Amino acid sequence: MMTLLFLSLAAIISIVVILVSAKFIKAGFDARSEVRDQKQTENLYQEVQDITNEDIEDDPQKGAILNQLDDYLIILDKYKNIKYLNPSAKNKFGKESLGKHIATILRVPDLLQNVDLVVNKRKTINMDLELSQPSFQFFKVYIMIGESIFSDDPDTINLFLKDYTEIVKAQKFKSDFVANVSHELKTPLVSIKGFLETINGHAKNDPEAQKKFIPIMLEQADRMENLIKDLLSLSKIELEEHIQPQDKVNLKEIFNSVEDIHQNKLLNFKFTNKIQSDFFVKGNFEALVDIFSNLIDNSIKYSENKKSIEIKIEKGDGKLLNNSYKISISDQGIGIPAEHISRITERFYRVDAKKSREVGGTGLGLAICRHRIIQHRGELEIKSKVGEGTQISVHLPVF
Ligand code: ADP
Repeated sequence: MMTLLFLSLAAIISIVVILVSAKFIKAGFDARSEVRDQKQTENLYQEVQDITNEDIEDDPQKGAILNQLDDYLIILDKYKNIKYLNPSAKNKFGKESLGKHIATILRVPDLLQNVDLVVNKRKTINMDLELSQPSFQFFKVYIMIGESIFSDDPDTINLFLKDYTEIVKAQKFKSDFVANVSHELKTPLVSIKGFLETINGHAKNDPEAQKKFIPIMLEQADRMENLIKDLLSLSKIELEEHIQPQDKVNLKEIFNSVEDIHQNKLLNFKFTNKIQSDFFVKGNFEALVDIFSNLIDNSIKYSENKKSIEIKIEKGDGKLLNNSYKISISDQGIGIPAEHISRITERFYRVDAKKSREVGGTGLGLAICRHRIIQHRGELEIKSKVGEGTQISVHLPVF
């Protein structure tokens, strides 16, 4: 909130400086002109006229601020036709919109009404503008009227759009995340509390009920523990993401450890590990065991017994990463519907939340993998067909 407030203030200050500076220059010149002769005054005023009429984009000094500005500046004449777009606005709305009515690029009733209000009341208005097409965007808009460095016409309308999309998205992401975590922790907690109340209440002297409920409570407590473990690793990885691990790591040894971890469960599958010789990548041993262990765990969780799970390695084709190994884990499990594939590495994103909970998932495994792979400067590739199976490939830099 403080950041937003600060940025709003900064935005207002910067735009006011840009737009009002011309007025001050002019006012300053006018004041001094009282002590100068008529000729000088005319010359000075002519200078201001020149600034006003110059093509700001072609002048590296005068246009410096506006040409560098990431935010959008749109200048309208009194008929609300677009007279000027700074380069980033031109980039966004297209230079063909120059000369057209503002509604051709921003057909937002609230904005158009506010522009009318500014014109009628000759007062600055600030508003929030949320667009959903082509994707979510959020702007603070400052609508001002009056002459500026672009025009001497007092009816000129200046629209300054400060882009807050990333900030609003991050805030939304944060609050969604907190809501998700609370929900995920609350569900097992409520269930444990319910069983404890039963055991402590009417089933106080019922050993049968106690025998039945205690394992369920333990399972729910495990679920909470797994979730907390995953949340802690996620926040740790996020802190370390910019530091690429540099150790020389042998993939053969990684997969020996991964196999050991899942030994018992893998006995139920047709498991093939084709990494039987040394392949060295740049990375961190524990982190890589963690990544591949998670992927094998998913193949186990989302496949029926007796199906095949295969690990193979090939030299990367250079499309995703130069000089890499591509390590693939393929299963013949339930598969992932095409429309979900691009989202399953998001935190708490599951194709089927009920199924994920049944098999002990937290919805964080692939998010953790993705962050770890980014940390290794690698790439993740997911191919899947419903009912046929999934192949997840990790591209890692060769050591
Ligand atoms: P979870 O703990 O729910 O397994 P993940 O982040 O590991 O969370 O995976 C996210 C979702 O992606 C899973 O809930 C599941 O729907 C899907 N998924 C991941 N791996 C596989 C796989 N090998 N086969 C089918 N679905 C998978």
